[in-house]
Amino acid sequence: MSFKQKPWAEPFKVKVVEPLKMTTQNDRENAIKEAGYNTFLLKSEDVYIDLLTDSGTNAMSDYQWAGMMMGDEAYAGSKNYYYLESNVRKYYGYKYLVPTHQGRGAENLLSQCLIKKGQYVPGNMYFTTTRLHQELAGGTFVDVIIDEAHDPQSEHPFKGNICLNKFEDLIKKVGGGNIAYVTIGATVNMAGGQPVSMKNIKEVHELAHKHGIKVVLDATRAMENAYYIQQREEGYSQKTVAEILKEFASYSDAATMSGKKDLLVNIGGFVAVNDEDLFEELRNMVVVYEGLHTYGGLAGRDMEAMARGMEEAVLDEHISSRIRQVAYLGNLLDDYNIPMVKPFGGHAIFLDARKFYEHIPQNQYPAQALAANIYINSGVRGMERGIVSAGRNKETGEEYFPKLELVRLTIPRRVYTQAHLDVVAYSVAEVYENRKNAKGLKMVYEPKYLRFFQALFEEM
Ligand SMILES: *Cc1c(COP(=O)(O)O)cnc(C)c1O
Repeated sequence: MSFKQKPWAEPFKVKVVEPLKMTTQNDRENAIKEAGYNTFLLKSEDVYIDLLTDSGTNAMSDYQWAGMMMGDEAYAGSKNYYYLESNVRKYYGYKYLVPTHQGRGAENLLSQCLIKKGQYVPGNMYFTTTRLHQELAGGTFVDVIIDEAHDPQSEHPFKGNICLNKFEDLIKKVGGGNIAYVTIGATVNMAGGQPVSMKNIKEVHELAHKHGIKVVLDATRAMENAYYIQQREEGYSQKTVAEILKEFASYSDAATMSGKKDLLVNIGGFVAVNDEDLFEELRNMVVVYEGLHTYGGLAGRDMEAMARGMEEAVLDEHISSRIRQVAYLGNLLDDYNIPMVKPFGGHAIFLDARKFYEHIPQNQYPAQALAANIYINSGVRGMERGIVSAGRNKETGEEYFPKLELVRLTIPRRVYTQAHLDVVAYSVAEVYENRKNAKGLKMVYEPKYLRFFQALFEEM
């Protein structure tokens, strides 16, 4: 008998289940038409396997649910806040914590505190809410990610890295004083969940500090990023994800966090900083937008669930099974020769809609059409990450035409089985088989901000 590769399995078992509604293709054709071919506007109950996002869709553990019963719902000074603060110090190392209702709450506070009108904010590829808050605070985002990030076929192991030359050129051009801070997202969501190396953040930190520029980590998936460093970067294979995470965060001055991703909760976020004066400002600002600084828009129980989720999420066995499950779907799709972003990302598989629908021009929203067609085929819901998500230039009003025109199939943590993913892969393969018949879309309603959430389309 010959042995295959050693299998992996989830480090948990199922205790509670949520039944799913089964629909017919006819039901789904009606549902997507009614939703204006926008998967964000579908009713969740009309979805079979929901790969829209890994944000807030995680399954919590019995330990977290038990923590929900330990909520100290005091207006001020809840014990859950102090527990969360101590865990942020323990796992990320930042001194001061301001909780927020989710990641964009943290981005709003930090952008308003740190950006002066007219300043630049370089970062490793934009993220939708991050860039918008920087712009609303008067800043201008500048993409300084390495070129490989824009190439779906590049197998660079750290496609999320910042290009030091691009960053340095910007400093030379505008001067360090006109740069509010540099953001480093890890992993990089819009590039396909691609990681940043330890060497890179270290060098960015050095260069930034030489010019008096602060480094802000978007720590949303920094634990998943740490796993990639362990697997791919020399000198880290014997270190735990927890050790790597703490070293990684030590090369930043502050972090914004969406707990809805890495931290295994359904709601929550925070901004964490080392500078006491900045903490003072954030504390003043949070009461305007979120709530008192010891709850920031969260119930005590939500802070407890996030603190406990942090302890579970940072374990090597959790992250390893999480990322290997994503790769399981990627490998199945590879067997069907589906065009995808490579290497596979940490939280999602990104289909290359440009290659998938070569006959649909980008201004007819090929990725938007592909997400709709996958839903019609099987009730699997993904999302567009291409021209619709990229939006318009705030000065000229022109649409951005991003190089990456993708559909994201995002895997919620601890929610679906391998059998679910077999169904997903088969469905994408069927849609690929029928690709020649697919039509482009035309946008018939466009919201002013973050248009991908609510835009409406019709078939051409
Ligand atoms: C989700 C996300 C955010 C925003 O967080 P929310 O909790 O959705 O407000 C910021 N940055 C990245 C990289 C994200 O994935």
